[in-house]
Formats: sequence, C-alpha cells, structure tokens
Amino acid sequence: NFRALVADSNGEGQQPELTIKSLTAADLPEGEVTVRVAYSSVNYKDGMVAILGRMVKSYPHIPGIDLSGTVVESSDPRYKSGDSVIVTSYGVGVSHYGGYSELARVPASWVVPLPEGLTLREAMILGTAGFTAALSVQRLEDNGLTPDKGPVVVAGASGGVGSVAVNILAGRGYEVTASTGRLSEEAYLKELGAAHVIHRNELTESSERKPIRRPLWAAAVDPVGGKTLQYLLSTLQYGGSVATSGLTGGIEVETSVYPFILRGINWLGIDSVECPMELRRRVWERLGTDLKPTMLSSTIVNEITLEQLPQELSSILQGQVRGRTIVKIGEV
Ligand code: NAP
Repeated sequence: NFRALVADSNGEGQQPELTIKSLTAADLPEGEVTVRVAYSSVNYKDGMVAILGRMVKSYPHIPGIDLSGTVVESSDPRYKSGDSVIVTSYGVGVSHYGGYSELARVPASWVVPLPEGLTLREAMILGTAGFTAALSVQRLEDNGLTPDKGPVVVAGASGGVGSVAVNILAGRGYEVTASTGRLSEEAYLKELGAAHVIHRNELTESSERKPIRRPLWAAAVDPVGGKTLQYLLSTLQYGGSVATSGLTGGIEVETSVYPFILRGINWLGIDSVECPMELRRRVWERLGTDLKPTMLSSTIVNEITLEQLPQELSSILQGQVRGRTIVKIGEV
C-alpha cells in the first residue's frame, strides 16, 4: 500500500475534496514506468487542478504536475529499476495521476533521466516552474539576447517561474529588474540577484493605452500576462523579446502592430507541457550545468508534506507563495 493525496468531486462545477488515502498499485493508471516518488512540488497549475478542479476530466484524481524519484519497475528498455528520473508535463497531474503520491506510473515517453548535475530534491526545487524559467531564458538567448544588450525585466518575480528566472539571469550576468506586487520580498529578490526591485503597478498599463513607449528593456520574462504583458510589449527596446508563459494577471492582451513593425520585437510563446523531448532534455541538462541557479544551494526553499498540501495549494492561487515549494513524499 502507498499514500496519495486524492481529489474527488461529486459533480460538474463542484470543487474537489482533498483527502490522503491509502491505495494499492492496482489503482495506478497504465504506463511502462513505475516510480517511487521522492519529491513533488507546488505550481500555480496544481492549485488550478486540485483546488478549482480545472482541466480534470475524471475523478478520483491524484494531482501533482511534477515528480522526481526512483524507478521501481519498467517494461521499457530505456529505464531500469534504480534509475533516478524526473517526470513533469504532458498529462501528469492533470489527465493522468500525478506526483502527490508515494507511487506513480507513467508512460516511458514522459520520463526524463535525472541530469548528472542535479539531485532529486534540486530537480523539484526547479520543477515545472524552474524548467519554464530556463526555457524562457534559452528562447530569449536563441533570439539574440546577451547581457550587453541592456536590462532584462522579470514580472511576477517572487513567484516560482519569476524567482528562478531572476536567479538564472543574474547568474549569467544580466542586469535584472524584478517586478513584484510584494515589495516586502525585496530582500529575497536581491538575494536571488535582482539589481532593481519595482512594484508591479509600474509595469501595468494605466487607462491611457499607448502602443509604443520609451524603450526600457532588452527582454522580459513574463509569467503574468494581461495588462502587464501589454505594457511590456510597448516598452521593449529595438529587437527585444518577451517570453510569455503565464496568466496570473489575466489572459486578454490588447496590442497593435506598431512595436512589431517599428521596433522588430519578438513575442515568444513558452510552453513546457508539449515541449519536444529533445529540447526538454537539453534544458534539464543545462539546469544541472551552465543554467544551474544558485538558489538550489540556499536554505530559502520551503519544504512541506502531503498533509500541508491543501493549504499551500490554496495559498498559491492567492499569489501568496514565495519562490518554490517542494513536497517531501518518500525516501530518496
Ligand atoms: P506562482 O508561484 O504563483 O507565481 C506567480 C506570480 O505572479 C505571483 O507570485 C505574483 O508575483 C504574480 N501575480 C499573482 N497574481 C497576480 C496578479 N493578479 N497580477 C499580477 N501579478 C500577479 O506561479 P507559477 O507556478 O510560477 O506560475 C506562474 C504562471 O506561469 C501561471 O500562470 C502558470 O500557469 C504559468 N506557467 C506556465 C507554464 C507554461 O508551460 N507556459 C509553465 C509553468 C507555469 P508577485 O507577488 O511577485 O507580483
């Protein structure tokens, strides 16, 4: 038997109820690889799934879009018992049982071998949020960003994607401006490497809409969207790029062709879920080497248990979680 946080709901539109239950391997979905989970993590999407019941097609469901652990059984020749692995994205924790469980079973095509430079715990300090931050940096640099091009702004900087992005960019020599709604987190953001910390109101378009403004940034990492993204598009320097990954500030974006045809800016879409496996593995390898964030070796990571998850999942939806939270599930 093993323990898992199970979400159940008795009807459409009902918010799921979360309970820790004892299950057997027979309860797990089909898949070639069975993993003894060491760590999982808490992402905004986990809150949407577990608390609001968004994206879940059937119940009971085990949430948790991230997991790291050790293979206990594999019918796929690429993996064998004892291998350390990371499983994120695709259907994990959304349409397929996820990581808030001592045992998980997944398709082999979703599995990433743990890179040499990372431990199972570090992999979950990063998790989907960290992977998304790294993918954002990779795509910005693929589009010509270098530290000499000018300042880079990170929106939603005290959240998961934001804080890892600040830390990676600062580590690569960029001058980072961190934008946050929580100025109380200034010391934290400076510790991650931000050169400047500004209030998110400074990045939000006011009632006066302008397609183009004074150019301020060589690039932007944006997990916030909405009016923040509108403002970022209008303030990128010539040839600058914004990496769009999220929607905590809204999904509607009004812009015009001007910043594109007058400043040649790039609007880069960042998707971690269907990111092709070759690129995914390369980004994870880089997270263990040249993109490895210094925050992995600091003590400021929040570690919780399965019992504490419901509270933490509510908090992240309210924008109250700082940085990354990992969940200790089983022994490493
Ligand atoms: P998170 O830890 O909650 O971080 C989000 C941050 O956004 C918050 O910490 C807050 O930062 C800011 N924020 C919250 N509410 C806001 C509002 N109303 N207006 C403006 N800013 C607000 O969440 P996360 O796990 O990092 O995910 C962030 C976003 O990226 C989510 O939308 C998530 O779905 C998305 N995401 C997408 C992908 C992908 O593949 N595209 C992957 C991972 C995440 P401050 O307090 O510092 O302002």
